[in-house]
Amino acid sequence: MPHRLSKSRYTAGIQCHKLLWWKVHEPNAVELQPGKVLQDRFDQGAQVGALARDRFPGGVLVDLPHRAVDQRVKLTRKLIDDGTPAIFEASFLAANTFVAVDVLTPQDDGYHLTEVKSSTSQKEEHLPDAAVQVHVLQQSGLRITGVDVMHLSKDCHFPDLSNLFERTDVTEAVQPLLGKVGWEIDAQLQMLEGPLPDVAIGLHCHEPYECPFMARCWPKDRDHIMNLSGVGPKKGCDFLLTGVHRIGDLPAQQKLNITQKRQIRAMRENCLIVEPGLKQALEAFHGRIGFLDFETIQRAVPVWPGMGPWEQAPAQFSYHELQDDGSYAHDEFLAEGPKDCRPALVRHMLEATKHADTIATYSHFERTKIRALQKAVPELQPELEALEHKLIDLLPVVRENVYHPDFLGSFSLKYILHPLVPELTYDDLVIVDGLVASVEIAWLLFVAGK
Ligand code: SF4
Repeated sequence: MPHRLSKSRYTAGIQCHKLLWWKVHEPNAVELQPGKVLQDRFDQGAQVGALARDRFPGGVLVDLPHRAVDQRVKLTRKLIDDGTPAIFEASFLAANTFVAVDVLTPQDDGYHLTEVKSSTSQKEEHLPDAAVQVHVLQQSGLRITGVDVMHLSKDCHFPDLSNLFERTDVTEAVQPLLGKVGWEIDAQLQMLEGPLPDVAIGLHCHEPYECPFMARCWPKDRDHIMNLSGVGPKKGCDFLLTGVHRIGDLPAQQKLNITQKRQIRAMRENCLIVEPGLKQALEAFHGRIGFLDFETIQRAVPVWPGMGPWEQAPAQFSYHELQDDGSYAHDEFLAEGPKDCRPALVRHMLEATKHADTIATYSHFERTKIRALQKAVPELQPELEALEHKLIDLLPVVRENVYHPDFLGSFSLKYILHPLVPELTYDDLVIVDGLVASVEIAWLLFVAGK
C-alpha cells in the first residue's frame, strides 16, 4: 500500500527527508517515543486546543478515531452540508495526504481555516503546516478565503483568561508556499518508496525543531566543531560548510574568545586547566555560604495570579548551607496542591537563608525568579531584594577559570559535574533534568490530586 502523508509527516519532510523516512519506516524507534517533557507538551497542547474550541460557539468536533480516515472525511462533508458554524478537526484526504483542520468556519464565499498553536506567537514554522492544509482543502474542492494562526497571548494574565488567545492572519504569508506544496508532496511520497535517503547534516537538524535522530547522524568525536565552547547551531554549521569539521581544523587566523582558547589548550594538553584567577574569584563567596536551587512549573494556560502563558514560577526549592564543621544543613520546600504556593515558598526560603552571607547559584536562573517573586509576593519585596543581593552566580566563575576536555564545550552541570567531581555523575542526581522536574512537579500539583 502506498504511503500516506499527514500534516506532521509533511512538516517533518520539509525539515529533512531522512527524518520523515525514519518516522514512517521506524514508527516505534526509541527516538520517537515521547518522554515526560514531550508528552506534557502534547497534553498541554490538547488543553489549549480544547479551550480554543470554546471560542467558536456552535462548533462541532469530528470526534472519531484518528485512523478512521474515511469516516472522518464523510462526517466532515456532512457537517459542511448541514451548515455547521465551525468544524473542529475537519478532515480531508487528497493527493494521498490527510489533514485535520483545527477549526474550519464557513464564510459567504468559501471557508476560513484556523490553526491553533500553544506558542505565544506566530512562528515561521507554522506556515508550511498551514500551507499543506490549504493545498489539501483546495484539492478537495473548497475555496479558502483566509487562514490564521490562533496562538496564546503574552498579554493574558491569570485570573483573567478572556484574552488567552490572539489570532495572526497568515493568508498572505502562506501564498508563496502554495505553489510548492504539490511538488513537495510528490517528492516525499516518492522518497518514501525508496531506501533511506542520504541527507547531509546541517542547520536543518536543529531548526525549526531539534531532530530526534541527532545521535544517529552526528559524529560523537570529542573534538567535533559543534563541541567548541559557545558555538551554537548556526555558527557551527557555518564552520561545517567551510570544511571545518573538527576543532583542530580551525585556521590559525580564526578569532577565538578566551574560553575557546582555554578549551583548545586543555584538549591539546589533555588535562584540567585552572586559571590563577580562580582563587580571587572565589573570594566573593565569603562568610556563611548557602547553595540555592529552584524548580519551577511552566503551564501553557496560566494557573496563579499575575502569570502569563508558559511563564515559569518556582514551586520547589532546595537549600544547603555550609556549617562550621564542614557539614551541610539542608532545607527544602515543595508546593502542595494547585493553589498558589509562592507566598509560602518565599516565607520558607527567607527563613532558611536568613543566616547566610553569600548564596551560590549555578546560572542566573534563581536571580530572575527571585525578581519575579518580588512582584508575585509584594508584601515581602524588601526581604526578597535583600536575598537577591546575597546571590552569586558560580557559572561565570567556572567558565572564566576552569576547563576540562570532558566538558565538551559546555558549562552546564550535566557536563562539568563528573569531570570535576569524578565520584559523582549527573545520573546520580534524583531528577537529572530541570525540565523533567518541572513536569513531575506540575503533574503532582495539577493532575495527581484530581
Ligand atoms: S539528524 Fe539531521 S540529517 Fe539526520 S535525520 Fe535528523 S535532520 Fe535529517
